[in-house]
Amino acid sequence: MPQDRQHRVFFALWPEDEVARQFDEAGHLAHRSLGGRRMRRETLHLTLAFIGDVPAERLAELRGIASSVRLPAFDLLFDRRHCLARRKLFWAAASIVSPGLRELATALNERLKAADFRTEDRPFAAHVTLLRHARCDKALPAGDLRIEWPVRDFVLVESELRPEGAGYRVLQRWPLDQT
Ligand code: ATP
Ligand code: MG
Repeated sequence: MPQDRQHRVFFALWPEDEVARQFDEAGHLAHRSLGGRRMRRETLHLTLAFIGDVPAERLAELRGIASSVRLPAFDLLFDRRHCLARRKLFWAAASIVSPGLRELATALNERLKAADFRTEDRPFAAHVTLLRHARCDKALPAGDLRIEWPVRDFVLVESELRPEGAGYRVLQRWPLDQT
């Protein structure tokens, strides 16, 4: 692999199968009304910090940053369905951003910035994208969303952009502290 190749990477929460199945089901239901393209089940995730293109030799720094983060595990509740008309995205979201999640996202973003990685300045919005190109003007089917996600680790992911939607590869996983 050539050393100068760029890797498009981000830190994320990646649900295990049972949680991913529940998000997938919510996407399936919403798709009936809003149409668009469903995110494939194995690609469902929550972005903690988007980094973008980095050269291969900087990946070790990212692994170092992740290893330096020592924070407790936490639980999330996804209880909101949200369609962003401008971007045609349909999300599952959490009405309460748990302090554990905020702490983790903040720690990663601050350390990335301190190490001169490019990060996002826009405020952190905890969400899982379920549909692209959604027709947000349509009414959602009745019913509440309630997905409980016990978060026990976070991951570094490489994204490969393809016409049919990004392919993701988990590069490494870091556990959160469980007492
Ligand atoms: P595609 O770009 O083909 O639609 P994608 O957005 O899923 O696919 P990426 O663009 O590689 O794939 O993004 C990976 C993750 O990071 C996604 O969750 C995406 O929403 C998020 N992301 C992408 N760009 C940014 C950005 N500039 N700021 C914050 N998050 C971003
Ligand atoms: Mg994108």
